[in-house]
Amino acid sequence: MNTQSHVLMGAAFFGRPLPRLAWAGAAGGILPDLPMYSFVAVLGLLGYSVSDIFDRLYWEPWWQIANAIGHNFLLWGTLTIVAALAVARSRTAPPLMSSPVSDNAAAGSPDGVKGGWAALVLAFSASALLHSLIDFLTHRADAHMHFWPLSDWRFRSPVSYWDPDHYGSWFGLFEAALGVALIVVLFRRYRALPLRAGLLVALALYVAVPAFFYLTHHG
Ligand SMILES: [Zn+2]
Repeated sequence: MNTQSHVLMGAAFFGRPLPRLAWAGAAGGILPDLPMYSFVAVLGLLGYSVSDIFDRLYWEPWWQIANAIGHNFLLWGTLTIVAALAVARSRTAPPLMSSPVSDNAAAGSPDGVKGGWAALVLAFSASALLHSLIDFLTHRADAHMHFWPLSDWRFRSPVSYWDPDHYGSWFGLFEAALGVALIVVLFRRYRALPLRAGLLVALALYVAVPAFFYLTHHG
């Protein structure tokens, strides 16, 4: 799936009720693909062509291992469980003064139960885990080693999120529709201006990314 969809899902599914939980969920959605973006940026600056980068260097072991770490079930699974236990523990601790939580009021509280560190880590790691799981189901030739270093096994999914020979066109339509729906949900849920600006960037990416690959491969 495209990174912006992971980011939107992270914010939508794990970002309630606080804007900063949405940021944590968004960060967890982008992190698995961050090594890829760093490599592409550096290699692009060094003058490598797009086809050199994606058709050759992408498949080098160092890049594949970076992908394996970013999309690691063991790493994100462990972190999610630990954070969930910490959140559960903080909820069963002696009750703090209860007050209705609204976006703005609770965002200002330094360490309320719902916005404490454990909750932030949970939103972040659960989002990274969801990203890894969706990639597991939608990557074929470019599948990741999700259980590395215990195993370098890759699941070659029958569905590819981009390859038209393996439902990629249909999946792309579904993904864009899902992305627009998530943008509407998030836009209504959060009033914070930076967050809404980010949503508009995500919306633009659904047009810009396919256009970029079309131009670099057909232009
Ligand atoms: Zn990914």
